[in-house]
Amino acid sequence: MKNLAHWIGGKPVEGASGRFGPVYDPATGAQEKQVPLASTDEVDAAVASAKAAFEDWGTASLARRTSVLFKYRELLDAHRDELAALITAEHGKVHSDALGEVARGMEIVELACSVPQLLKGELSTQVSTRVDVAAIRQPLGVVAGITPFNFPAMVPMWMFPLAVACGNTFVLKPSEKDPSASLLLAELASEAGLPDGVLNVVQGDKVAVDRLLEHPDVTAVSFVGSTPIAQYIQLKGIEHGKRVQALGGAKNHMLVLPDADLDFAADQAVSAAYGSAGERCMAVSVVVAVGDTGDELVAKIAERARGLRIGPGDDPGSEMGPLITREHRDKVASYVTGAAAQGAEVVVDGTGLTVPGHEDGFFLGVSLLDKVPVTADAYRDEIFGPVLCVVRAATYDEGIALINASRWGNGTAIFTRDGGAARRFQLEVQAGMVGVNVPIPVPVGYHSFGGWKDSLFGDHHVYGNDGIAFYTQGKVVTTRWPDPADSGGVNLGFPSNS
Ligand code: NAD
Repeated sequence: MKNLAHWIGGKPVEGASGRFGPVYDPATGAQEKQVPLASTDEVDAAVASAKAAFEDWGTASLARRTSVLFKYRELLDAHRDELAALITAEHGKVHSDALGEVARGMEIVELACSVPQLLKGELSTQVSTRVDVAAIRQPLGVVAGITPFNFPAMVPMWMFPLAVACGNTFVLKPSEKDPSASLLLAELASEAGLPDGVLNVVQGDKVAVDRLLEHPDVTAVSFVGSTPIAQYIQLKGIEHGKRVQALGGAKNHMLVLPDADLDFAADQAVSAAYGSAGERCMAVSVVVAVGDTGDELVAKIAERARGLRIGPGDDPGSEMGPLITREHRDKVASYVTGAAAQGAEVVVDGTGLTVPGHEDGFFLGVSLLDKVPVTADAYRDEIFGPVLCVVRAATYDEGIALINASRWGNGTAIFTRDGGAARRFQLEVQAGMVGVNVPIPVPVGYHSFGGWKDSLFGDHHVYGNDGIAFYTQGKVVTTRWPDPADSGGVNLGFPSNS
């Protein structure tokens, strides 16, 4: 059994709490590693290391910070395959998908390399006689990130590269289900020249999270995970005076209008619903078929779904890998088995799948549920697995009303050839990220990512300009260099500009 470690003060640190969590290979179901679950003392050690590092890093020149980030980008590029292999070994997603995750994470490192441009302040000269005003942004201090299992490299990279580029120091608490990628990310950052203590990784569970939320030296917390925990993080973080951004779960709808190219829409729906076994917060989990498109679209989706190759993520022939744990696989399967009783038509049932040679792996075939009532659990809950629901709507208005009634508002998409309808949809739909003939509209690194409603708690989206705003605080400096002629004596009146 391999023991994983924390990364504190620029080096691996063995767990000291005596508590461990299992780390599985989801393709085999075997447990080959265990991850230490930090005690509050271990979290305190990581925060102390970050606090000490802030003394120097918080005032490090932009030139110094960016030279580290450029080097980091090179090292990530050289280690793409290794990172992707670690992700596949613990998460289960196929290697090409893991490589895609690394590439999207690297986009934020690339953005962070441009931090001198992003942090440029504002200056107004001569606002009053010989008076200038400058607005600058400064780092917060020690900030923390708490991340989910489904993107063990990309989601941490949504956070720490920008945070440290802004001069903060960082404590990352990755998912305990697939923690190894975060250790390689931290090791490469050290190799790139990031000073010890600027980026720390503390492995753990609720004990570690709660300590980060309570710790007086943690100034801000970024969270990505499920809605109930996101809500908890926001409330507890605020209670302890932290700045919080907490991204939650999703149920992303794809609206298909009658004029859409149905082959294209079916390709996109299958890719977006079943990629990464549906374990993506931007996965399409509901197709809303408008007008008379339903039967033809469902037939096209079913044909494609039945042809998908499911197997271990390190097999180049696999298009979809296993789910993260046995418990999660069984929970996802229960939505399919329960759907018929709740009024849905099970068009493709993936629950009986076995992968030869991998009988103990956490595999589940893909499922397609049609005419799903909005009262069914499969429609109401975030399933987070390879299950696609289709609902029928008579008109555009009925379809968008359905989408806007959802408690979530992460991503959504419209498939149409009608520019007017697409434009209406962009303005009317209640979601943070909208695709027009794009099923997973994840913004590129220089825009920001975030949902509405129960998909995000807090005011800032992640990365892009919102990331810079989240990881800095504003300061406005008013300066006067008086001329001897200005000495006008004492004046208790309200200062006025002249
Ligand atoms: P999760 O909420 O179970 O865990 C996320 C993090 O919170 C982990 O680090 C975990 O250790 C910690 N955590 C879990 N339970 C906790 C508790 N009771 N108290 C304190 N901390 C706790 O999420 P997950 O299962 O790892 O990830 C899947 C979820 O994340 C899905 O709901 C998915 O939609 C969501 N997600 C959202 C986005 C987004 O951008 N909105 C992106 C990726 C994933």
